[in-house]
Amino acid sequence: MMEATVAITKSQNKKTKPDPETLQFGKTFTDHMFTMEYTHEKGWIQPEIKPYAPVEIDPAAMVFHYSQSVFEGLKAYKDASGDVVLFRPEENFKRLNRSNKRLSIPPINEQLALDYLKQLLELEKDWIPTAEGTSLYIRPFVIATEPSLQVAPAHHYKFFIILSPVGSYYPEGIHPVSIMVEDHFTRAARGGTGTAKTGGNYSAGYNAQAKASSEGHAQVLWLDGVEKKYVEEVGSMNVFFKIDGEVITPELNDSILQGVTRKSVIELLHHWEIPVTERKITMQEVFDAHKAGKLEEAFGSGTAAVISPIGELTWNEETMIVNGRDTGEVTKALYQTLTRIQTGKQEDPFGWITKVSS
Ligand SMILES: *Cc1c(COP(=O)(O)O)cnc(C)c1O
Repeated sequence: MMEATVAITKSQNKKTKPDPETLQFGKTFTDHMFTMEYTHEKGWIQPEIKPYAPVEIDPAAMVFHYSQSVFEGLKAYKDASGDVVLFRPEENFKRLNRSNKRLSIPPINEQLALDYLKQLLELEKDWIPTAEGTSLYIRPFVIATEPSLQVAPAHHYKFFIILSPVGSYYPEGIHPVSIMVEDHFTRAARGGTGTAKTGGNYSAGYNAQAKASSEGHAQVLWLDGVEKKYVEEVGSMNVFFKIDGEVITPELNDSILQGVTRKSVIELLHHWEIPVTERKITMQEVFDAHKAGKLEEAFGSGTAAVISPIGELTWNEETMIVNGRDTGEVTKALYQTLTRIQTGKQEDPFGWITKVSS
């Protein structure tokens, strides 16, 4: 095992911590950040923890021109005894490397990256909010920094980890949302980058999201990029439907993001012996199930919301109301169990929790 030695420079003027009541998503950042450089000659070098501050980057840095970048998202919590814990962080660093590979970015040592993150969290643990539903959101990301306008992979990169205390996704309690099925724009193409967490995938979805918002919907449900027939994802979440006692989620392909929450939901359902199937599912099948009275529950899964119940789905001018716009039983049990395991309020029989400090 390599030594994860990091040069640490502590901040001399600490910020005032935000009021946990008014926290928004990703608007406030902590006192320190982690950075590391990559050069073609030396590989990943210079791991540093230093005061959070703007960085100077050449305007020709390749990330600005051809979007060679990837990111991750996970959360740190404090458990009942005040210990800092992470939920399945090794999955996020594995996925970071899968995204790196897709974007022709050199891989990062996953164990070292986790160790660097732990050292950063050790220094920033007072920033972890503890009110119900709050957490410290962790954003690792890589950008191409080489100044060059050549359309080719860069020779220089920078890896960052920044931290942001985030408020509860459900300040008024978990409630089902309205979803619009997008039938014009698509999120990802077959053979494209949909399965990578890379910036361009998200900005390309803004116009569909704006359309959905203007019609009173919270999120977009994305269909496949070829036939616009098969369900793929909802917003930045994976999606599940409970139909006639069976939970169904679209099987993974190269246009679906492989969510850590998705994986955990499937494992929990197996553990509870609730039938769960990963397969292709068309929007028509969901619609027909609803007509036959068999669409029992629908929800999205992702780190930010954990579980987001779907109360209604609008597709081609028709609206399906799911479970009378109430949160379904399985949806609720998944939300409660996942959040309780994440915050140490419930035993973790799966080995999902990693302790940062003791
Ligand atoms: C990050 C993300 C998800 C959810 O992944 P988690 O690991 O569960 O947070 C789902 N879909 C998209 C498009 C995403 O970017």
